[in-house]
Amino acid sequence: MALTLADRRDQQFVLNEQLKIGELCEAELYCDLNTKTFDLLLNEARNLAVKELLATFKESDQIGAVLEDGAVKVPPSFHRAYKLFCEGEWLTVSDDTEVGGQGMPCVLGAATLELFAGANLAFSIYAMLGHGAGKLYEIFGTPEQKKLFLPNVYSGKWGGTMCLTEPSAGSDVGALTTTAVKNDDGTYSISGTKIFISAGDHDMVENIIHPVLARIEGDAPGTGGISIFIVPKIWVNEDGSLGEQNDVECVRIEEKMGIHGSATCVLSFGAKGKCRGFLLGQERQGMKIMFHMMNEERLNVGVQGLAGASAAYANAVNYARERLQSRNILKSRDPEAPQVPIIEHPDVRRMLLQMKAYVDGLRSLNYYVGLCMDRARISRSDDDKVKYQGLVDLMTPICKAYSTDKGCFVAQEAIQIYGGYGYTQEYPVEQIYRDTKITTIYEGTNGIQAMDLLGRKLGMNKGQVFIDFLGQINQTVMEAKKIDSLAEMAAKVDEAANKLGKTAMVLGKAARSEQVLAAFANAYGFMESMGDVILGWMHLWRAVVAHPALEKAAKGRDIAQAVASSKDAAFYDGQIKTARFFINTMLPLALGRMDAVMAMESAAVDIADGSFGS
Ligand SMILES: Cc1cc2nc3c(=O)[nH]c(=O)nc-3n(C[C@H](O)[C@H](O)[C@H](O)COP(=O)(O)OP(=O)(O)OC[C@H]3O[C@@H](n4cnc5c(N)ncnc54)[C@H](O)[C@@H]3O)c2cc1C
Repeated sequence: MALTLADRRDQQFVLNEQLKIGELCEAELYCDLNTKTFDLLLNEARNLAVKELLATFKESDQIGAVLEDGAVKVPPSFHRAYKLFCEGEWLTVSDDTEVGGQGMPCVLGAATLELFAGANLAFSIYAMLGHGAGKLYEIFGTPEQKKLFLPNVYSGKWGGTMCLTEPSAGSDVGALTTTAVKNDDGTYSISGTKIFISAGDHDMVENIIHPVLARIEGDAPGTGGISIFIVPKIWVNEDGSLGEQNDVECVRIEEKMGIHGSATCVLSFGAKGKCRGFLLGQERQGMKIMFHMMNEERLNVGVQGLAGASAAYANAVNYARERLQSRNILKSRDPEAPQVPIIEHPDVRRMLLQMKAYVDGLRSLNYYVGLCMDRARISRSDDDKVKYQGLVDLMTPICKAYSTDKGCFVAQEAIQIYGGYGYTQEYPVEQIYRDTKITTIYEGTNGIQAMDLLGRKLGMNKGQVFIDFLGQINQTVMEAKKIDSLAEMAAKVDEAANKLGKTAMVLGKAARSEQVLAAFANAYGFMESMGDVILGWMHLWRAVVAHPALEKAAKGRDIAQAVASSKDAAFYDGQIKTARFFINTMLPLALGRMDAVMAMESAAVDIADGSFGS
């Protein structure tokens, strides 16, 4: 059975019908583009993902990246894929044309990443980090630094990384010990060891330009004393030519549970005392600058979670249509009855529909946040810019944490759909599960995201951002209430959104009181609940769009008849039924969880360390 990817029809539905991205072309920035261009771009991305990247999926896992004689080699099939990826300028889909980008909206960046990461997550990481590092050089680099590094990094000729983590500085980045000392020529000597560095070394590029967090000797401890440096693997001379090898060495690559094709490196900087770097931005602004990359990557990792889910789901649906097992439940007593495809069994349908509800909802969520980035970019009014950027900032931890948690859940359920075969390497879903698991950990663990949501995001602009967010949900609720058959679902989403607002107030107040520990012990439950409410909103929104479209596709026929004979009618009816399933069976669970959050149970922080057992 051929490997398959994200549903093309649903991608188009979200982009063109739900989010109406064609409206972006009214803005000056995108006025040369139109929906036809967007469709073509997405088709091209799908072609590359299906024809080239899927072909690297298995080898990525089986051969993986290897360290030989001090050099990292990627799986052989990556070379052709990377060449085509760079030739297609996929590294810079949504970057300005002046810096070599394709100048497309950010929302399309999310849609193409869903395809690339869904085809091979490990492969997509190299490009993602190259882009993220390039963005830092674009925004914060001096004109000379931009000239020296940006064209080659954005074209993919040179790679990029993000070098934060050290053995004692994981979640606690401020604990890092890598040092920098200023030299007479204005460069800095860097010394320290970074671990877990994705794409830290590899043979698809001729050079790698590392952004490295380090503390200038004498600067204060903690995050406030951190600076950021551009550290080339091979020195780049003033005229752009390559100089001598800089003192940066990959001393080990990690053996991991998944994403074997992604080289996760231990990098030693300055072991021979000869590692040089350039300061990026101002001294002690390192964390502020690196947060730009972290925010970009957090959103990308959210899309990786969606990508794992959508690929796992697409494969599981195909399998469920073909695997014959057991009789239809209505004929279970008839020994002559034939075995049926497992998609006929109610419990398999339950699993599939739950998976579909997460995949569709996550797609809407992640693309919507991409659209908000575009709106922030093109809005003429400052108020709108602030509003849309606020929505992006507020929802970043949800995109990252909720999408990746649910991505893993869907991949796990895909294994269940395959039964015993799902647990074997004969089928792709166990690899998708192993590959996707990292998304809940890197770029700030999901626990850290939940704390970020409570500690930093809920109170942004005195809570106005959260109020704006609830206002967006309310707009959809009002639309849905105008359609009789959706009114009941609208009321349920309304109730859940109101309860989320109340829970946010209770939790926020607790976080500022002597209950602070209990509040943070409940932060995860809040993050999950907010994710559930957003998905309820997204499904209601989908139903509002699908309702008239279904009537149109039915052309006056009975709906069941239309669904049986028209692909379009089946698609739109599927939207409404998926919304019904999510809002009536999954969203109510969030109401209970929100009660639990508001009860502010403190057992998790009250229990003595010794009581956890031996
Ligand atoms: C495959 C892979 C690729 C990676 N790529 C990169 C990369 O390219 N660049 C890079 O710099 N790093 C990278 N990392 C590192 C990754 O970002 C860290 O592993 C992650 O941030 C967690 O840090 P840690 O592993 O030290 O865990 P720890 O920080 O020790 O955390 C362990 C547990 O404690 C929890 N915890 C820690 N502190 C708190 C707190 N204050 N409150 C509540 N809970 C807390 C965490 O949520 C987690 O559950 C990568 C890691 C892996 C495995």
